[in-house]
Amino acid sequence: MPIVGWRNAYTGRTCDVDDYAAMAKVMPAFMLKALVDAEREDVRHSGTLLSVTNGLGCAREVVITRFMPCKPDPQKLWRQQGGTYLHEKAAALAAYDMGWVTEHNGGAEECVVVGELLGRVVSGKRDAFKRDFSKLRDYKFSFSGGDKFVDATRVAEPHHAAQLNALRLLTERAVERECFRGDGGMEAWVVGGTWQPTYAPLMSEAQVAETEVGSTKVGASGWKYGVLLEQHAKAYERIERGDKAEDVAKALPLVGLTMWRSRKGECSCTAHCPVKRECDALAGGM
Ligand code: SF4
Repeated sequence: MPIVGWRNAYTGRTCDVDDYAAMAKVMPAFMLKALVDAEREDVRHSGTLLSVTNGLGCAREVVITRFMPCKPDPQKLWRQQGGTYLHEKAAALAAYDMGWVTEHNGGAEECVVVGELLGRVVSGKRDAFKRDFSKLRDYKFSFSGGDKFVDATRVAEPHHAAQLNALRLLTERAVERECFRGDGGMEAWVVGGTWQPTYAPLMSEAQVAETEVGSTKVGASGWKYGVLLEQHAKAYERIERGDKAEDVAKALPLVGLTMWRSRKGECSCTAHCPVKRECDALAGGM
């Protein structure tokens, strides 16, 4: 992401990326630097390779943050990326369980899988899986709202289930055998005071594509996993052809407006999007 500065949500002003004094009351310098480093070094945050999580979010946000110079709100960015840092803690616990492969116990490369999904080349990152392919785990974090999706049934929310099944399908295609299909084989593992696993049902590729992603509090969001993945794919194709990122972003719908709304009707753009200002400044989108 070409982060060229920051937006200070308290003052409403923007500043340069290394103006740590202006951001001192918002976030310490080492966290701001970590956000910039994460975006620069992680190919999944900078390139045009589709990822499993693209089917779960707003393509306009991704195009703005990856390909346009932007000044995001670092608190919202941290909320999205903070889980990446906590994965290290989660992996330390997983290391006690014999047979787990995680990013931080030497399995960083093994955790990544690339293959065909819904007719596209897609990369997926498995947070943790058993080396014998009996269990797959995806960590969700309370500060990102993960605990909202745990109830007494312990059945994973549809969007968590779609994500886990997408990762399972990519794994099966890579190793050419059935994986994670036993009872409780796919876990959305929510970290929030106590571990709270939910379990995903087995889904076909077509069911993954048809899974509605988004709002659980105020009714249907209207956005399906397959539709969102395809939006990202077409946007990346335009970027690769050399189209201006601004034009690509403008042509994309305002997906965030109807995803993940709270009972108060607050849209995910307001609550979560680090580049809402940049998005609002662009025309188009509807
Ligand atoms: S403000 Fe909303 S619609 Fe715009 S890029 Fe962000 S999430 Fe997408």
